[in-house]
Amino acid sequence: MALRVGVIGGGQLARMMIAPAVELGIDLRVLAEGEGMSAQLAATEVGDYRDLEVVRAFATGVDVVTFDHEHVPQHVLRALVDDGVSVHPGPDALQFAQDKLAMRARLAELGVPQPDWAAVRDAAELEAFLESHDGTGVVKTPRGGYDGKGVRVVRAASDAQDWFDALGDGEALLVEELVGFVRELAQQIARRPGGQMVAYPVVETVQRDGVCAEVIAPAPDAPERLAQVAEGIGRAIAEGLGVTGMLAVELFETDDERILVNELAMRPHNSGHWSQDGAVTGQFEQHLRAVADLPLGDASPRAPWSVMVNILGGPAEGGLVDRFAAAMAEHPSAKIHTYGKDPRPGRKVGHVNVSGDDLDDAVYVARAAAAHFA
Ligand code: ADP
Repeated sequence: MALRVGVIGGGQLARMMIAPAVELGIDLRVLAEGEGMSAQLAATEVGDYRDLEVVRAFATGVDVVTFDHEHVPQHVLRALVDDGVSVHPGPDALQFAQDKLAMRARLAELGVPQPDWAAVRDAAELEAFLESHDGTGVVKTPRGGYDGKGVRVVRAASDAQDWFDALGDGEALLVEELVGFVRELAQQIARRPGGQMVAYPVVETVQRDGVCAEVIAPAPDAPERLAQVAEGIGRAIAEGLGVTGMLAVELFETDDERILVNELAMRPHNSGHWSQDGAVTGQFEQHLRAVADLPLGDASPRAPWSVMVNILGGPAEGGLVDRFAAAMAEHPSAKIHTYGKDPRPGRKVGHVNVSGDDLDDAVYVARAAAAHFA
């Protein structure tokens, strides 16, 4: 019987696991949050991922449980593990992608380079941090943030008062130094339960309004030393935290060529979409291999350069598919990926990948093709 992999969450990351699952002969099943989600092309059932009995019932029909997002509560994950379900990444690893304060504390123990940070419970504690950091800081809600929501640059403790007011007993906010980075990078690592790891090349990511807009693989102008440091950080985190599946480490590069960890994702990640067309083994196939404990694939690039441009918002009228013919006719080298989502301002509805020998050319074609869908 085919290996059955269950994905909790029905977004575009689950959707993009479908094609490699078909190729590998894996029976992919999805527990989606609602009807009509991105991943509905897979065998999908609808249910609340916070409800233990719903998740338990879903897990009885699969051999491995993995995720499209990081929001499944710890008590649900731990109950599955106690039931004997194979969960990848497991709750011991996933907790550090769910809670940025827990992540900062654990990375400090591992000696991984990161921005100065503190847990602050009230305005007075935030004020003390700001005073020792030139009066500025970046305050983050430890849980539930995404695409820049839950991240705020502050110049006074009162700038975060509403978030302090919303804290429960014993809870705290994370404050970090405002890093003067020259660019953002991302390092991906795939890791199997037994410990086998494969590293992707470090990439450059460009964020607009807190949302990933473009990715260049590998990161341009990256000396060998920088690439090695990024890979070393990725491997140390994957191993130190016991991550299984794909790990993405978001990084800041400073003007003195230091690399600091921003945050972690334990699943396929926007910074790795280029690999679908630009690497020997794409991140979605690699994630399935890793969580199913199959030998990992080669993560080498297929071309000197790959560029990914996100399609945000989408056309004001009609769907992306209506624009296919024009984009494809003009840019036959562009690989267009769509998520089956209704266009909405700022929403990620697809992306374009272009690979080639010339970086400027690849950037031009990827942007031009994506612009057809704006
Ligand atoms: P999210 O979980 O919403 O993706 P992040 O922690 O990745 O939030 O922050 C979103 C963006 O905010 C980052 O990509 C970066 O551009 C900026 N940012 C986050 N932390 C810092 C920091 N300490 N210093 C400077 N910029 C930051």
